[in-house]
Amino acid sequence: MNDKQTSILIIYTGGTIGMVLNPLTGSLLPLNFELISDQVPEIKKFGFHLQAISFDPPMDSSDIGPEIWIKIAEIIASNYDEFDGFVVLHGTDTMAYSASAMSFMLENLAKPVIFTGSQLPIGVLRTDGKENIITSLEIAAAKENGKPIVPEVCIYFENRLYRGNRTTKINADNFNAFQSANYPALAKVGVHIKYNTEDILYPEDGKTLSVKTKFDNHIAILKLFPGMNRAFIDSILGIKGLKAVILETFGSGNAPADEWFVKRIRKAIENGIIVLDVTQCSTGSVELGRYETSRKLSEAGVISGYDITTEAATTKMMLLLGQNFPHEELILLLNSSIRGEITLP
Ligand code: ASP
Repeated sequence: MNDKQTSILIIYTGGTIGMVLNPLTGSLLPLNFELISDQVPEIKKFGFHLQAISFDPPMDSSDIGPEIWIKIAEIIASNYDEFDGFVVLHGTDTMAYSASAMSFMLENLAKPVIFTGSQLPIGVLRTDGKENIITSLEIAAAKENGKPIVPEVCIYFENRLYRGNRTTKINADNFNAFQSANYPALAKVGVHIKYNTEDILYPEDGKTLSVKTKFDNHIAILKLFPGMNRAFIDSILGIKGLKAVILETFGSGNAPADEWFVKRIRKAIENGIIVLDVTQCSTGSVELGRYETSRKLSEAGVISGYDITTEAATTKMMLLLGQNFPHEELILLLNSSIRGEITLP
């Protein structure tokens, strides 16, 4: 690889990585990208052509949703031909949602899009941000035989590269903030970067990038808990205009077998609401019919999300609803893996 010919676009959206302490309030506030690059002079040593686009003002990722995902996707699309890879600096709180959304939005992606951030601001001596940025840039630029090694939307954090739509934030304090419980890391970083090419998805040749930018947020996440009362279920399933529900169930996709509950779910499905079963467990898969308590859901018309994360299910659902697929096709797409987000049995 000739470094001089490699160009990477950094999209700085905000997050802890670029924050400083507001002396008046004692809270962390986002700062602009210049501050970050000043703190990481090492990145100039790569010799890549690096360019940065900075959000103004930078955002805490709790404020990021479909509107910003569209903005990020459009920046990638309009710079796609000029750059070999993209590094998105993003707050960790909703990074797994944004990376999942991006994976579904960018159809036929053939270049790396690496999300990263940090748990400690870049100006803090013990920051994890430096290593995260430096390695993300190296991964975004990595090629073999002239082709990108990881042409996927990923999250890089604390020595691991994960498929974006397989990740979840699991730790609010530690540097290893993310996990990909149901899919192996795409790279492990130590002295060397060891790419797990067997588990990386490669695009079909000759297809061009197509960006989907319509979302429909008429969805709800319904997390089950023992002792739920009817009014709670009724109020969620009775939301006006509701089109789909992600039902966060117990274990391998189980829910109470109470007649009122199953009946209410069946009624929602009969009214055209899609109900997708996603497990509350971080590892493992929904297996409808393994227990009596999930067989009833399946009979009522609930679809299995298998081992999909809630983050991937939410973003996939909103994006697919936005594309206005016919009902049957939508169900088929939810029930299958479109960007490697599901392990089918
Ligand atoms: N609140 C921050 C954010 O998600 C946390 C972080 O960046 O780690 O924007």
